[in-house]
Amino acid sequence: MDYSKYPAEPFRIKMVEPVAMISRKERERAAKEAGYNTFLLNSADVYIDLLTDSGTNAMSDRQWAGLLLGDEAYSGSRNFKHLENTVKDLFGFKYVVPTHQGRGAENLLSTIAIRPGQYVLGNMYFTTTRFHQENNGGIFVDIIRDEAHDATLNVPFKGNIDLEKLERVIVEKGAANIAYVCLAITVNLAGGQPVSMQNMREVSEICKRYGVKVFYDATRFAENAYFIKEQEPGYADKSIADITREMFSYADGCTMSGKKDGIVNIGGFLCLNDEELYTEATELVTVYEGMPSYGGMAGRDMEALAIGLKESMQFEYIEHRIKQVRYLGDRLLAAGIPIIEPVGGHAVFLDARRFCPHLEQTQLPAQSLANELYIESGVRSMERGIVSAGRDRVTGENHMPKLETVRLAIPRRVYTYKHMDVVADAVIRLYQRRHEIRGLRFVYEPKQLRFFTARFEHI
Ligand SMILES: *Cc1c(COP(=O)(O)O)cnc(C)c1O
Repeated sequence: MDYSKYPAEPFRIKMVEPVAMISRKERERAAKEAGYNTFLLNSADVYIDLLTDSGTNAMSDRQWAGLLLGDEAYSGSRNFKHLENTVKDLFGFKYVVPTHQGRGAENLLSTIAIRPGQYVLGNMYFTTTRFHQENNGGIFVDIIRDEAHDATLNVPFKGNIDLEKLERVIVEKGAANIAYVCLAITVNLAGGQPVSMQNMREVSEICKRYGVKVFYDATRFAENAYFIKEQEPGYADKSIADITREMFSYADGCTMSGKKDGIVNIGGFLCLNDEELYTEATELVTVYEGMPSYGGMAGRDMEALAIGLKESMQFEYIEHRIKQVRYLGDRLLAAGIPIIEPVGGHAVFLDARRFCPHLEQTQLPAQSLANELYIESGVRSMERGIVSAGRDRVTGENHMPKLETVRLAIPRRVYTYKHMDVVADAVIRLYQRRHEIRGLRFVYEPKQLRFFTARFEHI
């Protein structure tokens, strides 16, 4: 491996949180008590926590300083003004509605923009996004390019929408029956895969032609912008800020989870250009989140988010971020471990189908693999396969996603390259004894978003 490809941390560490590893016996007990669901483990029992990159970020000294500037007035907080102006400036949308986190924004958007029976088109589903779409009577249609469903295909911009599928669905169903297109940048469940600027431009052109709105799931916009700068012709000399502006110029609005590329621990917002939709959103936000000037966040949260959004677009930050994730992926690839290729923005995804070929998908191979990795090493990851995909609302049958994966999500600015080595070594050890990994079955299955709180036992 050529280590010069991976930049050193563009920060120094001035506060630390000690972590310790409990013994293997204790980890076996902890996994059993958690019903073999890594979501249900106690944080204290985890050594390196790659469950998610959501809300697990380390804030900068400036963000911590911003917390002290919180204006906790019930209404009209100056921190909201700061956040609102920052988002308008960076993203270029007319209206900003704050929410407690991304799914709060998804709830608002799905409620105001979907009529029951309408189709919602997206580049692969996301768990909470699809939940809110379906909960409002929407019918989700996946129009991501086919390559995204194949873990082994190493192609750039694997998150792109298939333009032929897009146009075909609009023509078949009729534009009036399409609620909107939801374009995720990047695509979490496809492996953190980016969408190209050209694809965003073309999706916008097609949708404009038919009068269909396009909303982005902007959760990892800065990571997506970095991939465009790195890999799309014509963008190498453009700043992340310019790329971000152009990306959003092709959208009618977006939902945002601040817990990812906002580099904070909680927060989110909805952006809109349409005044009528904005008015509806402000009416709804007071019911579900809070006043339109805080939407479930404290003043200090909004201040930290305003600062974090700017930091996420600094080149040194985002380059290190992407390349640290890539480092983990490259180490695994060098050892012959099956992962989703290319390595995406926020996580490395183990391909459980190839890791555990002795298990059927209904034996929950990724769920089982995530558990074994925890027991092996104290590293916590998450299943992104049949358990996460849930059941079809109409037939009650399990969705059977082509991708059956374990996600190793890297929190922002939290772990070092040496931590990545510990993770890689653990996965490599586990791969050598992969035949011992046994299947699981549900003993408790929640009706919705089952992966969060389900419990399992060994078959
Ligand atoms: C995390 C996430 C969401 C939901 O955001 P929360 O802040 O967790 O509610 C939506 N879409 C994508 C792609 C995400 O990764």
